[in-house]
Amino acid sequence: MTRQHPPSNLFYQNRQRRPMIGEARGIYIWDADGKRYIDGSSGAMVANLGHGNERVLAAMRAQMEKATFAYRLHFENEPAEKLAQMTAARMPPGVNKVFFVSGGSEAVESAIKLARQYAIAVGESSRWKIISRYPSYHGSTLGALALTGMDNMSAPFAQMLREMPKVPAPTCYLDHDDLSMDERGLRYAEMLRAEILAQGPETVLAFIMEPVGGASTGALVAPDSYYKRVSEICREFGILLILDEVMTGAGRTGRFLAAEHWGLQPDIIALSKGFAAGYAPLGAMVAHERLVEPVLAHGGFIHGYTYAGNPLACAAGVAVLDEIDRLALSQKAQDMGALLKAELIGLKARYPFIGDVRGKGLLLAFELVSDVETMTPLPKAMDTHIHLVEEAFSRGLILYSRRTRGGVEGDHFMVCPPLILTETQIGEIMEILTDSLDAFAD
Ligand code: PMP
Repeated sequence: MTRQHPPSNLFYQNRQRRPMIGEARGIYIWDADGKRYIDGSSGAMVANLGHGNERVLAAMRAQMEKATFAYRLHFENEPAEKLAQMTAARMPPGVNKVFFVSGGSEAVESAIKLARQYAIAVGESSRWKIISRYPSYHGSTLGALALTGMDNMSAPFAQMLREMPKVPAPTCYLDHDDLSMDERGLRYAEMLRAEILAQGPETVLAFIMEPVGGASTGALVAPDSYYKRVSEICREFGILLILDEVMTGAGRTGRFLAAEHWGLQPDIIALSKGFAAGYAPLGAMVAHERLVEPVLAHGGFIHGYTYAGNPLACAAGVAVLDEIDRLALSQKAQDMGALLKAELIGLKARYPFIGDVRGKGLLLAFELVSDVETMTPLPKAMDTHIHLVEEAFSRGLILYSRRTRGGVEGDHFMVCPPLILTETQIGEIMEILTDSLDAFAD
């Protein structure tokens, strides 16, 4: 029997009430009634280390005993210094100036502000447009929302947003033509070039993308050709490349940054989620020093948050990065990701409605369709993305789903457990997932 909830003063989205959380350890969460769930999506791709990591908790307790907060204009703090240095050491060359925030939206917001102030500082104030992709998700603050290509999120605020130009995300798997995947990737990259020309290159400040799509396209990886060509195009027009690694960063795709898979040289990187792995609200905007120096020389960076770089969150961040190294979690994401992906691909033979299995490392997803040949989505009225998630949840497996992909709708399900996953636990996930798919197919 699930406990009845008393009336609540809390509100989030318009959704049904969920069970109360009891405890969380490793890849498992228990609700207040003692029912166990496998955290198959690490929350929202956050809890990369798993829950209750003793070393992180000990580091946080130790910091709590010393000082939990000091305002950055009054005091420096050791954990923030250390975390900045550790973060910079994990970034591409020159991308070594770290600005702390409390989440992903704030990291993207900060990237927008820095890019714009850089353009002004170097005398290119005509540049203000940031081209993003459709669909995409970059956050819910108004600046980040202006870059987000998800109509349901931005529609109510249309008049309040200075909406930015968008180019299609490279949904190559949905294209029906004779081109190879690499040729399709190039075609999408050329759409960026055409958009820059249409906008007027002198007005374009930056291009932002999730290196592997997250909530927007469900672990969608572009062909290699796309990344190479997009980088060339940004360089050709002197446009900044901003990578939103909020979901992909901190080892999730099998490297510390997804950028490393393609040798991308971004100007700014947004980090959060796995960066503090759920132990503290923390994110970072990391910029190339070449951008930060002129901004600081030109009167300073006009932007900031009260809680930015607070010692407690940063102590958690330091311990999380230490654990990512000590447990070799990027490598684990590669190894366990390959095994889990093979299992998910195996499901295609059994369930004809699984249209695509995709992703990198442990950022994985599968998509359900009504026709695998044409990749036609299941009817919206079926609410598949909700029903299958509820089937799995009732059996004790947490998945993360959305009904978005390219320009058309489609149901994708992200399977992104903590990176500490073991082979036995992959078996547990697959058992519940197949039971849930069987129930869904009935
Ligand atoms: N960027 C990306 C790629 C994300 O996936 C998210 C969160 N889903 C955000 C930004 C926003 O992060 P937050 O919810 O922490 O503000």
